[in-house]
Amino acid sequence: MQLTENGYRIDGISPLELCEEYGSPLYVYETAKMEAQYKRLQKAFKGSKLKINYACKALSNINVLRFFHQLGSGLDTVSIQEVELGLKAGFAPGDIIYTPNCVSMEEIKKAVEKGVKINIDNLSILEQFGAAYGNSYPVCIRMNPHIMAGGNIKISTGHIDSKFGISIHQTRHLERLVKSLDIRVEGLHMHTGSDILDVDVFLRGAQLLLDVAYDFKDLKYIDFGSGFKVAYKSGDIATDVEELGEKMTKLFGEFCESYGRELEIEFEPGKFLVSEAGYFLCKVNVVKQTTATVFAGVDTGLNHLIRPMFYDAYHHIENMSNPEGKKRVYTVVGYICETDTFASDRQISEIKEGDILAFYNAGAYCFQMSSNYNSRFRPAELLIHKGKAHLIRQREEFSDLLKNQVEVEI
Ligand SMILES: *Cc1c(COP(=O)(O)O)cnc(C)c1O
Repeated sequence: MQLTENGYRIDGISPLELCEEYGSPLYVYETAKMEAQYKRLQKAFKGSKLKINYACKALSNINVLRFFHQLGSGLDTVSIQEVELGLKAGFAPGDIIYTPNCVSMEEIKKAVEKGVKINIDNLSILEQFGAAYGNSYPVCIRMNPHIMAGGNIKISTGHIDSKFGISIHQTRHLERLVKSLDIRVEGLHMHTGSDILDVDVFLRGAQLLLDVAYDFKDLKYIDFGSGFKVAYKSGDIATDVEELGEKMTKLFGEFCESYGRELEIEFEPGKFLVSEAGYFLCKVNVVKQTTATVFAGVDTGLNHLIRPMFYDAYHHIENMSNPEGKKRVYTVVGYICETDTFASDRQISEIKEGDILAFYNAGAYCFQMSSNYNSRFRPAELLIHKGKAHLIRQREEFSDLLKNQVEVEI
């Protein structure tokens, strides 16, 4: 988003015009930002054999998947449905890694049939996998090093009580299963889920994984997951990708030397690649002054953007209709019959009814977590590519609410 003398522009296009043409609320994504983030990560790791797997649960519109495929990315998936979306988008099975948690052995077998890379995160399933496939199908093992490099415990997966990964303290048991069932381990993986605020803490977790890696002789890659943090508000600490690239390249290079072979280093960012590429535009229905507060009530709610209520996430808000206006204090709330507060006591350019507001950082985990609560339609999605807007998802309509409902005589 740029502020020009003619107002706000998303890759050259006015958000007000987008809302006029496509209605509101509206998700808008720009490929230029996705590409810039992808290339920034590539550049930071130019000294290693890097593979980036886009974590598509963040934003899984098939056009976004196709765009990352064109950039040369692989795909990180967490369900068999995401695997199928990835294949449909054109990814080769070998470029898709499937990292489920607490899914059935049946679903894992389906993923094996598709030929994708399988990442197993518990010993019980590993034992069943070994019994079924022996060394005929390679696996990746998801370890949990119990390192938290910062951030919110709700989104962290690295702490001791987490349901994710095989604890680093179970390595002995893991090795026993691998040996007795003749399992071919081609990858090791960690994804602590916590934000990388401190590169050195992250490196300590990485080192723990590398220490385990010496025990597996057939490795092709080591996947360090994600945790790349982007700024949601000014002053936020974002992951220093360049520092991470420099230090990891050195650490990994030294490891490969003593391991005896050059392995691929993999990462699977979601948020880092798409968060800042997205904006969520909505219209102000009502400005409501109570004895205590000035509310701006908008034509959306937790049905379309739940992160502020779910994670206490901060999403920056600007008034697209009044770029230079005097700042006033508002509490921005949704139209759902719940307390769906997007922002409390925010300074925003003076708001009039009918104005268009934009939520920033709306590319990751926003549309994807939307629902039909209150029987509202899910919004449309637009992709801006090379200065041109493409509708990539139609706004829902009434028939969508009844789709799959079965009307019976009772
Ligand atoms: C969600 C997820 C990611 C992506 O996390 P971000 O914070 O969006 O970068 C990567 N790997 C796995 C296994 C995940 O579940």
